[in-house]
Order: sequence, then structure tokens, then C-alpha cells
Amino acid sequence: MRSLLVIVMGIALVGQEFRKRDNKDRQEFAGRIVCVGCTLEKQEGGAEAQCTLHAKHAQGLLRVDGTLWTFVDNARGHAVITNAKLREKEIKILGWRFPKAQYIEVSKYQIKEGERWVPYDFCKT
Ligand SMILES: [Zn+2]
Repeated sequence: MRSLLVIVMGIALVGQEFRKRDNKDRQEFAGRIVCVGCTLEKQEGGAEAQCTLHAKHAQGLLRVDGTLWTFVDNARGHAVITNAKLREKEIKILGWRFPKAQYIEVSKYQIKEGERWVPYDFCKT
């Protein structure tokens, strides 16, 4: 009886653990890569971004719906945040979003080069 109670409690504790995101949870985010600080500075009630001092023009996504998103700064996100060659390019990102946050964790992305979409898959680079 006691061991049954321990098992039931164990299951209850496991049930409280948060599930990690899975590949099937990824969504596509379309928009344009912009400097987050400069974009915030240029808008009504603009921020004092001090881009050159601290953020070094850290990049984010200006989605087609006009919302501004930042990226999780991990191995995959870091390249998108820091590669100035991507700035002002049209992009489609496959990634994860998180409740109540405008943060995207990048899985992979495609950049529009002229008329074609060029995929970037991190396994190959
Ligand atoms: Zn900037």
C-alpha cells in the first residue's frame, strides 16, 4: 500500500514538470530582419537605444503584422541576431514562440535573395 502511494506521488510530481518544446511545436514567422534598438528609437515615444554602445545593433524580426520580436540568443539565434548581412532582408523563420513573450527560438530560416528563398539549415553549416 505504501509503495503504491509513493508511485502515485511520483506520477503526480512528473506531471508537474514542464514539457520541453518539440519539433512539431515550431511555427513559421515571416517578416524582415531589423535592428531592434534602431527600430524602437525611430518610433513614436522612441527608446534611447544606444545601439553602438551596448546592443551593437542586435537584430530582431519585424513581422508582417508590424510586431517586433527578439530571438533567443543561443547558437542558432546568435547568428541571426549578429549577422549584419541579414539586416533588412526578408526572412521566413521556423521556430518556437513562448506564452506571453515576443521571443522566437530559431530552428531554421530562409532568406529571400532576389526572387528565390535560400534555406539556412544549421546541420549543414
Ligand atoms: Zn541599431
